Amino acid sequence: MPELPEVETLRRSLEPCLKGQVIAGARILNPAVLLPGPELYQELLPGRSVEELRRRGKYLIMCLSGGWRLTAHLRMTGRLLWYDAATSPGPHTHVILDFQLGGQLHFQDFRRFGRWWLTDAAGLDSLSGLAALGPEPIDPNFSGRVLRARLGLDGKGWGGRARIKNALLDQKVIAGLGNIYADEALFAAGIHPLRTVGDLTDDEIERLAAACRQVLNDGIAHRGTTFRDYVDGQGQKGEHKNFLRVFQREGEPCFQCGSPIRRINVAGRSFFHCPACQKNDQVTS
Ligand SMILES: [Zn+2]
Repeated sequence: MPELPEVETLRRSLEPCLKGQVIAGARILNPAVLLPGPELYQELLPGRSVEELRRRGKYLIMCLSGGWRLTAHLRMTGRLLWYDAATSPGPHTHVILDFQLGGQLHFQDFRRFGRWWLTDAAGLDSLSGLAALGPEPIDPNFSGRVLRARLGLDGKGWGGRARIKNALLDQKVIAGLGNIYADEALFAAGIHPLRTVGDLTDDEIERLAAACRQVLNDGIAHRGTTFRDYVDGQGQKGEHKNFLRVFQREGEPCFQCGSPIRRINVAGRSFFHCPACQKNDQVTS
């Protein structure tokens, strides 16, 4: 699933193509991916220009003239692809936006979990997932203090016995992390993924906040991580897979200490980590 670095890379790759372009129309091949419904897209999109492309967490937000917002979430396998000229839709293309100068934006999604929302600015604020998002971990104001508050160590939220990786994946705690970058951040901070939130020291939370920012910025610098599906707006894969230190490296030597990287499965979720660099006194595994 695309995480913050992949969506940010997509935003940066698409914005130069889309900014200032005027939509000619929407061709809707699968109306089920469009919320609140296809009619609004047909009615409202023609003639509107793209003013800006923003990102919030894993959401990509196209700001259109007249205050309208076209928001996309790629979920598992969604792709947004730009073509300078008319291009035939692929087998999993659900929507094509045609632009007046001849360019096209194709929304493809093999698994069909991706969604678009068309709203005004106020409607965007009330989109449930977006409104509840935690802070951006690459924001300069993000810190251990912020993370500590979001984890609810004051007795609310995730505090207490929740496992730290599960808390990091909750988009309400911080926005944009998924399995890849959560495992990488915990390794960079030297924290075992099964540690409980309430057990972490202030120093560890400070290290973790810095590690989240670092691994996400590294992911952006390498234009995202591609295992199979993710590509940017020009169809280019990301290179960050070559820089991962624990995720999907089970059995391979840790780059810091040489111990084999271990994968634990708990409740259907995988936790990649180095058992030597990320000690856990609380569990035996
Ligand atoms: Zn190690």
